[in-house]
Amino acid sequence: MKLWFTIDQIDTDTYCISEYRHWEETHCYLLEGKDRTLLIDTGLGICNIANEVRKLTDKPVIAVATHIHWDHIGGHRYYPEFYAHEAELDWLSGRFPLTMDTIRKMVIDHCDLPEGYNVNTYEVFQGTPKRVLQDGDFIDLGDRRITVLHTPGHSPGHMCFWEAEREYLFTGDLVYKDTLFAYYPSTDPQAYLQSLEKIAELPVKRVFPGHHTLNIQPEILIRMRDAFRQLDLQGKLHHGSGTFDYGDWAVWL
Ligand SMILES: [Zn+2]
Ligand SMILES: [Zn+2]
Repeated sequence: MKLWFTIDQIDTDTYCISEYRHWEETHCYLLEGKDRTLLIDTGLGICNIANEVRKLTDKPVIAVATHIHWDHIGGHRYYPEFYAHEAELDWLSGRFPLTMDTIRKMVIDHCDLPEGYNVNTYEVFQGTPKRVLQDGDFIDLGDRRITVLHTPGHSPGHMCFWEAEREYLFTGDLVYKDTLFAYYPSTDPQAYLQSLEKIAELPVKRVFPGHHTLNIQPEILIRMRDAFRQLDLQGKLHHGSGTFDYGDWAVWL
């Protein structure tokens, strides 16, 4: 039986906290700075991620989600100091487009739950962020500075986080190696292309996705951008046009 959390050290002060008992292999990232620590995504909220975080840092923790989907905000309840993008504030205040019953069914379907876990106790985090983020904002950790990139497409307020000094890009659900989801009503395939155009310009050394394998190389950003450009040229970059498979990744429109 796999443990709930798996921790991988990326460098001296950066860690990946993974939940491999979700079928999409969810990853959160902890970036420790001199003064503060940033937790990018807080996971499923089924087991307590704050216990893992405390083992890795004694600095005050700021939480931020790449986007407000249940599998990225589960641990927000442990972090009153959390930030969110302006375009998804309504999803944090009772206006998320799915019902609790639907989400609890997804929790059951997507996870190998701990024995005795009562899914009826599962709630989706709601709250008011300490800071509202916009494209180009910085999150200052003391000696590390993280740039906020608004990258809509998978969701309206999706953000990637760019650490220019280390050339790290944290991509959430915009980029990972498996089927990308751009078919729900709240997705936007055209915005997805624009977001890929934006991040494909960056001199990325390492890509850190929100799901699936951590063995992902920056060249995939160019391949995804080019494939989306091609779909656009063919008039297929819209909802309902199907699933397109590119070998090590796919997109469901
Ligand atoms: Zn998502
Ligand atoms: Zn996700």
